[in-house]
Amino acid sequence: MTERYYSLPDYFKKEFGRRLYKVPLDAGMTCPNRDGTAGRGGCLFCSAGGSGEFALRFTGQKLTRQDLIYNHQKAEEGDFIAYFQSFTNTYAPAEELRKLYAAALDNPLFAGISIATRPDCFPQEVYALLGELKQAYPDKFIWVELGLQSIHEDTAVMIRRGYRLEVFDECVRRLKEMDIPVIVHVIIGLPGENAEMVYQTIRHLNTLKISGIKLQMLHWLSDSDLGRLYMAGPGRYHPLTMEEYTDIVSECIARLDPDIVIHRLTGDGSGETLLAPLWTKDKLNVLNQIRHELKIKNIRQGCRKEN
Ligand code: SF4
Repeated sequence: MTERYYSLPDYFKKEFGRRLYKVPLDAGMTCPNRDGTAGRGGCLFCSAGGSGEFALRFTGQKLTRQDLIYNHQKAEEGDFIAYFQSFTNTYAPAEELRKLYAAALDNPLFAGISIATRPDCFPQEVYALLGELKQAYPDKFIWVELGLQSIHEDTAVMIRRGYRLEVFDECVRRLKEMDIPVIVHVIIGLPGENAEMVYQTIRHLNTLKISGIKLQMLHWLSDSDLGRLYMAGPGRYHPLTMEEYTDIVSECIARLDPDIVIHRLTGDGSGETLLAPLWTKDKLNVLNQIRHELKIKNIRQGCRKEN
């Protein structure tokens, strides 16, 4: 391992013998947390773009290398992942989803697809569709990314997540049964959450044996309801300092099952809308601080795993 944790580049090297690159896509979806099905305002922290500001609009057209926003020079055909990122990417009729997913899987640019969604947007037809596509494209992979953020119900209500933990657990169980890797998004620094609560979320994810995790600092964005709260009373909230964040992240890594791949340790808050914490803009510095913290505490992933 090149890091003290199981990084995504290490995973790519081990599984594919090469680095892969995610291409964020906006397939024009919405979200039940915005259209009134589960809620209206969306999750408290969610931006106007549904957490997919940098995504490329995708309606099933044949994408070429030149179309890709991040046209990584060294990447070859087959070195990209179609990342259905914006809003809730299983929230459409199965036939529509089939066309979108198949268009990406048919494209030789992509080694596979990664679908970001909510666990309460998984009707039987979507499980069946993923099972069918897995069979139809044995040389490609399908990942599912679920935005959990926290296992704590009080936090879930406060951020207006709109589903209960057992819905998430059941979705993970079914996807695992189908041998579909599940990547879980967790936010650190949510109002009302202390470090121990974050570690409880990590312990729970260990028991579910998820495949990957994205850890990220809460971003207070001006085009989110969280940002509006912040602007109305900045003194009432405490966005974590970089020192607090790197301390909690390093302790999460210490508690995380060493088989779980860490896809992310920082976030990509849009420069223009980010109100706080501004230190997150310097991603490289944050990553270096985390590395430093791991080194001085002599932490390797899973060294303090309890279950
Ligand atoms: S974070 Fe995801 S689930 Fe929440 S409102 Fe945004 S798109 Fe919907």
